[in-house]
Amino acid sequence: VKVLTYESNGRLSVGIVTQEGILDFNRAYKAYKAVQGAKAKSIPQTILGMLTEGVFAEKLFAETLAFVDRYGLVSAFTAEDPSLRAPILYPGKILALGLNYAAHAAEGGHKVPADPIYFVKASTSVIGPDEPVVHHRSLTRVDHEVELAVVIGKRCFQATEETAMDFVAAYTVLNDVTARDMQSADIKASHPWFRSKSLDTFCPMGPHLVLPEEINDPHSLDLQMKVNGEVRQHASTSDLIFSIPAIIAHMSEMMTLEPGDVISTGTPEGISAVHPGDVMEATVEGVGTLRNPVVAG
Ligand code: MG
Repeated sequence: VKVLTYESNGRLSVGIVTQEGILDFNRAYKAYKAVQGAKAKSIPQTILGMLTEGVFAEKLFAETLAFVDRYGLVSAFTAEDPSLRAPILYPGKILALGLNYAAHAAEGGHKVPADPIYFVKASTSVIGPDEPVVHHRSLTRVDHEVELAVVIGKRCFQATEETAMDFVAAYTVLNDVTARDMQSADIKASHPWFRSKSLDTFCPMGPHLVLPEEINDPHSLDLQMKVNGEVRQHASTSDLIFSIPAIIAHMSEMMTLEPGDVISTGTPEGISAVHPGDVMEATVEGVGTLRNPVVAG
């Protein structure tokens, strides 16, 4: 199941991707609930709300889809003129891995780290598919970074590598856009990387969330970044230095991960600059393609 957030007639809704279009999950579920009567419970109207309440699950989406199918209601609940937004508009925290592909560490002249390195991207930097990334005039180099991201589904503290995957609610594509000149200057001055990773629009995410049931092995997915149709990054998540369970176990050892938190697993080699007028397309196999234009700011 692929789940997303969209806007239609000024209203935000949770949608399910179907062959007919985007199904308005909130309305479809309401109808399903009415038929079920007292047995059904109310659910929040946003993906983050559903994650927080622990109701974001394959079963609920599958039941709702089966219901609309059975009663021939798919077209009745298909969204009109939807425009996609980021699946999670304001995640509590976005934790992003640095140097988690050996070839990418090498291209920056860095050693392969012994432990995961990660930083936070501000939740206000999040944008959705087709929304523009703003390249400010004062920046001299802005880079794309295609990454596989996971969304946490349950409060997670001190997970082990064995239990870590139980906390993964979904996968998505994340473009860890970076003001490289600002980052290099900050590193040189021994300052944190925070601002170069957290500028407004520097965290495109989406186009949807894919539930784990659809992903056989998250550690064998092809990922690539195209700019204006030209391939700039191309690798596989099999090259990750720290696996998803290793990352979650490490992070949650002394820091609680909350439902809706996003972990971006790092970018492979091939990072390069983008300019106003460019179009970035980040693809992770089986997860989706996230397209964003770059505009001057
Ligand atoms: Mg990155």
